[in-house]
Amino acid sequence: MKRKRTPREYTGIPASPGIAIGQAFIYDNINFWIEEKDIPTEQVDHEKVRFINAVEKVIKEIKSLRDSLELKVGRENASIFDPHIMLLQDPAVIEETFEIIEKGKCAEFAFFRITRKIIKAYKRVEDEYMRERITDIRDILRRVTSELLGTDDTSLLNIVSPVIVFAPNITPSDTALMHSSKILGFVTDTGGRTSHASILARALEIPAVLGVKTASSEINPGSMVIIDGNRGNVYINPDSATIERFEEEKKKLEIIRRSLDELKELPAVTTDNHRIGLHANIEFTDEVDAVLAYGAEGVGLYRSEYHYLVHDKAPGEEDLYNDYFEVAKKLAPRPVIIRTLDLGGDKISHIIPSEPEANPFLGWRAIRVSLTLKDLFRVHLRAIVRASSLKNVSVMFPMISCMDELNEALGILDEVKAKLKSEGKDFDPDMRVGVMIEIPSAVMIAEHLAKKVDFFSIGTNDLIQYSVAVDRSNDRIANLFEPFHPGILRLMKMTVDAAHAHSIPVAVCGEMGSDPAAVLLLSGLGVDELSMVPSFIPSIKNIVRSINMANVKKLVTEALQCETAKEVKKLIDKEFRKTSKEIKKVKNKRQKKKGKKKKTKEKSLSR
Ligand code: PEP
Ligand code: MG
Repeated sequence: MKRKRTPREYTGIPASPGIAIGQAFIYDNINFWIEEKDIPTEQVDHEKVRFINAVEKVIKEIKSLRDSLELKVGRENASIFDPHIMLLQDPAVIEETFEIIEKGKCAEFAFFRITRKIIKAYKRVEDEYMRERITDIRDILRRVTSELLGTDDTSLLNIVSPVIVFAPNITPSDTALMHSSKILGFVTDTGGRTSHASILARALEIPAVLGVKTASSEINPGSMVIIDGNRGNVYINPDSATIERFEEEKKKLEIIRRSLDELKELPAVTTDNHRIGLHANIEFTDEVDAVLAYGAEGVGLYRSEYHYLVHDKAPGEEDLYNDYFEVAKKLAPRPVIIRTLDLGGDKISHIIPSEPEANPFLGWRAIRVSLTLKDLFRVHLRAIVRASSLKNVSVMFPMISCMDELNEALGILDEVKAKLKSEGKDFDPDMRVGVMIEIPSAVMIAEHLAKKVDFFSIGTNDLIQYSVAVDRSNDRIANLFEPFHPGILRLMKMTVDAAHAHSIPVAVCGEMGSDPAAVLLLSGLGVDELSMVPSFIPSIKNIVRSINMANVKKLVTEALQCETAKEVKKLIDKEFRKTSKEIKKVKNKRQKKKGKKKKTKEKSLSR
């Protein structure tokens, strides 16, 4: 394929935030072929021994990789290597490879043929989770054949200068090798938010953009590349102005990161003393460290799907409880909001029996799944309720579209609590309950919903998707996914007004909550809390501390009169310029104060 040399831009899925600038390294872990080689009959036994030795060596290698990964990202994430080990220990796989060797073929070809057969079978399966296992099998194939052929399989480890890795796909073990400072970021042709690579990239804090379709086959190794993991953009051979812009942004992010400690202890209050809660969105237990490090006041959204996406069977109550309780205990007394399952849409779990749907985002998703699979829902709720014993856990229902769904979910929650009480289990009887506002019909009945719950959390990712009718994962129409659409502002205003009329708080936990420009609008709208990827918190706190409530309220009044998103953005830009000046002022003040403190300390020491 002809490789392009001209400047080029790609858009993919922003899988892991951060900016990386560097040279491209093409890592093709898919397209390799093992030649068919005949062996004499007397070599068959030797070939079998060679194969078994290679398999054992790879198992050992994977186990040690799993152990070292466990230290970094915890047992839960590291367990992604278990299917690798299981496959290598599968007697049928060994037996079938032996059969081909017995037909006079070399071990590497025999194993290649068997794994290709398994991959073919997996490709026919509709289930996304099963199809994702193909990546694991390719990983195993690469490792075993490299061992047999005595070739180096450490291409990622052998990288000597920092690079941005481009690959058709990234396997879990590839990602585990990426903690090396030599890997600045990565871009893959396939994969989504639920793929292993994406999950681990976030946990390891490596910027990544996934699902960039043909990128790995279209670019030259060594090309200059910028990846913007916050927005999902990839720039190939960018011009010097673009490089400068991103170097600037990267520097700014690094400065903010460095001033983290200063900000950590400071409250997120506006210049006129209005407090806005800044909370974290997490998906794994292990992210608790990041929640604390970035100074979040709590967890505003614990997406609980992960357990149901990476394991072979539905997690049990004890496993879930241990996980949730660990998070609650580590963060107590900070609040932790656990959202019940949001499977379906783009999060396909093989645990849930489902048929392919024409419109998955409009289909059997989130609370609809929970209310159908009630036993599964009960187990999940039992774990969440039990984890509330320290009184800092809340539960939240996703994708509520009508009162009936909320009433039914609340009914099941009451049942679960009554049963736990009769069993003498410890829990918080006053555990707060919230709903996500992410469907326009829920906005329209917000005043009724508000009477039944303790808080709202606006899921802007879905609220925009369902209001503007734009599939949030379809990059062809991504330009229509418009957070500043005046219609969206009105929907949010209605939600905030309904909540406040019933004295309950409103959070925003969609991506909009971590968009600096949007923060001006959201605070002006009266949103009480923002919840986001932990690493975004310091920069958003910086903005909050420079906001003047009277100004942003005025901004919202004007924005609500706008006809187009463009007009809204223009207004925000104007206000943003003022806020930026204020940010500088606030920062200078802080640094002066720090300088004074330092001088006083030096004086007292010299006395
Ligand atoms: C949202 O829809 O904005 C949200 C936070 O939920 P998710 O992204 O998990 O659908
Ligand atoms: Mg949502």
